[in-house]
Amino acid sequence: MTTDPSRELLLATSNSGKVRELTQLLEGLPLRLRELSEFEPIQPVEETGVTFDENASLKATSYGRLTGLLTLADDSGLEVEALGGAPGVRSARYAGVDATDAQRVTRLLEELKGVTDDGRGARFVCVLALFDPSVAKLRSFRGVCAGRIATSARGSRGFGYDPVFVPEGYDLSFAQLPSEIKQQISHRARALSEARDHLKLHFGNVASRH
Ligand code: IMP
Repeated sequence: MTTDPSRELLLATSNSGKVRELTQLLEGLPLRLRELSEFEPIQPVEETGVTFDENASLKATSYGRLTGLLTLADDSGLEVEALGGAPGVRSARYAGVDATDAQRVTRLLEELKGVTDDGRGARFVCVLALFDPSVAKLRSFRGVCAGRIATSARGSRGFGYDPVFVPEGYDLSFAQLPSEIKQQISHRARALSEARDHLKLHFGNVASRH
């Protein structure tokens, strides 16, 4: 494995579910993945933005500047029709800052009590921001996955709201479906399929400079 920093990509997230999915989605690219935990202690970036774009950009630029590495940050969340798009950018903090995934799911199901199928439409949104500190260049890529919120939690795969999110065209939740399916159709997979082309180009160019 190379130790050349120009061949490295920092995954700027401490969410282990996101790290696992992004790592799989980036397989095959000629790069070495670095994780935030390798740079501890590192000042956590406050997510003060009001959009996914703002928060993803904040994380990518801050961690990219701190480490000097090409940095990929993910800001994502769930938008539920009946809740006017909530929890949205507050998805991680929906049941308080220290809540667990199970507590967030419980709160969501409670908010949607009595809401019929028609009102349970929802979508996951993911914005991936890629910051290159060597040229101070920021790009972002967006992916969306439409579906609906089930009436109870089902399945044990994935993370976050996966047990209650049923993607369009399926009857099973993301936590019940094989992970290969989530990795083909998720908001994150869609955002990354665009980002991949830029990463290929970036690491191709790095290779040609050597
Ligand atoms: P943030 O991007 O760190 O603000 O957190 C996003 C939050 O949205 C996560 O903590 C999850 O609760 C939720 N989320 C984002 N992507 C997914 C997913 O693929 N499955 C389930 N929940 C997700």
